[in-house]
Amino acid sequence: MENLTVLGSTGSIGQSTLDVVRRNRDLFCVYALGAGSNAERMISDCIEFNPAYAVLQQESAAEKVRTELKNHPEIRTEVLSGSDALNSIASAGECDSVMAAIVGSAGLVSALAAVKSGKKLYLANKESLIMTGHLFIDAARKSNSQILPVDSEHNAIFQSLPESEQHRIGFCDLEKAGISHVLLTGSGGPFRECPLEQLESVTPAQALAHPTWSMGPKITVDSSTMMNKGFEFIEAKWLFNLANSQIKVLVHPQSVVHSMVQYVDGSVIAELGNPDMRTPIARVMAYPNRITSGVEPMDFVKLSGLTFMEPDYNRYPCLKLAIDSCWSGQAATTALNAANEVAVYAFLNGRIAYLDIYRVCADTVARFDSDSIADVDSVLDLHSRAEVFASQLVSRILR
Ligand code: NAD
Ligand code: MG
Repeated sequence: MENLTVLGSTGSIGQSTLDVVRRNRDLFCVYALGAGSNAERMISDCIEFNPAYAVLQQESAAEKVRTELKNHPEIRTEVLSGSDALNSIASAGECDSVMAAIVGSAGLVSALAAVKSGKKLYLANKESLIMTGHLFIDAARKSNSQILPVDSEHNAIFQSLPESEQHRIGFCDLEKAGISHVLLTGSGGPFRECPLEQLESVTPAQALAHPTWSMGPKITVDSSTMMNKGFEFIEAKWLFNLANSQIKVLVHPQSVVHSMVQYVDGSVIAELGNPDMRTPIARVMAYPNRITSGVEPMDFVKLSGLTFMEPDYNRYPCLKLAIDSCWSGQAATTALNAANEVAVYAFLNGRIAYLDIYRVCADTVARFDSDSIADVDSVLDLHSRAEVFASQLVSRILR
């Protein structure tokens, strides 16, 4: 029985994780749940999974959960609030593995707590790698924490690697493994064919309508700008220890091929499937075995075709900015992540226009990319300064 902590349990990945647990009760026991403020969802999950701990970011939400659970004396859950409690459920001795699925920079410290205490880490929160890069990988190496990638593209690459490299996440040697490069695929989002002059007037509702994947709001907007693919480029660099020549991005509108690995002999190994995150979640949770996930089997006869194209950087300037930041260095990607977070929420709240997301990010990266980062404290410091700077840019733009 594996004792699992789910961080971000009330979100899209968190709920898919609990669904995989639901189907494999003989293998997994929910040790703890952690989330932001969704008390209703936390109450129903506590009643169903009876974890030892439930942690909410907000004390008011925690109090609501506590009060309701008093009506269920069979539930043993202790309800806590705040960041320290979140870090303790990520690093507790009783916990074997952690699903890191809090969205954004808020997920960094708890994911790091899990890594530092040597837990098996199912990594969905890509922002923590964007923010800290080799600091995160080094911490995992030091504590012997095994990182297993949940993001569908990275999970597909992971599955397409030789087994030896699957055990060397963070310090793979792809050249030695006979790999020429990895092909990172992305759907291109809802605006792949939208006339460029119409992008300025894109509304939040339009950006939230992703053609193939159902996800939380932030990553859905990131997918529409392809900032998400840029983040995944940076994430792939760290997970698979890639050089510039070892990674290419391909637009693949059907989201059936979740990414591929091209070998020097001409072989290409890919992972294919329906776009449902329960597949990569079940893959990491059962690794090296296989378990059922609830995902419908792929029906190839129903596929209309698989197409691939180069990304158009005029359409997706955020993708180009993220790739440039990746090779520019840690300060650039930390600043990019902070600015994007500020800009995406400002766009969703109707404060800035769609194309301002790129403008805020580019100006923030330019301001901070030559800063130096030595440790996690300097990451958090740069993150805060970049957030303030980006917020000032938003105020200046304010419509
Ligand atoms: P979501 O918005 O649906 O859920 C986010 C979760 O984080 C919620 O449980 C929320 O309560 C929690 N949270 C937010 N702020 C918090 C805080 N300060 N403290 C504690 N908990 C907090 O997001 P999602 O789509 O599930 O994405 C989660 C992460 O997984 C993101 O980093 C995203 O990039 C990554 N990811 C998601 C998908 C997907 O299909 N949804 C795919 C790949 C990667
Ligand atoms: Mg992805």
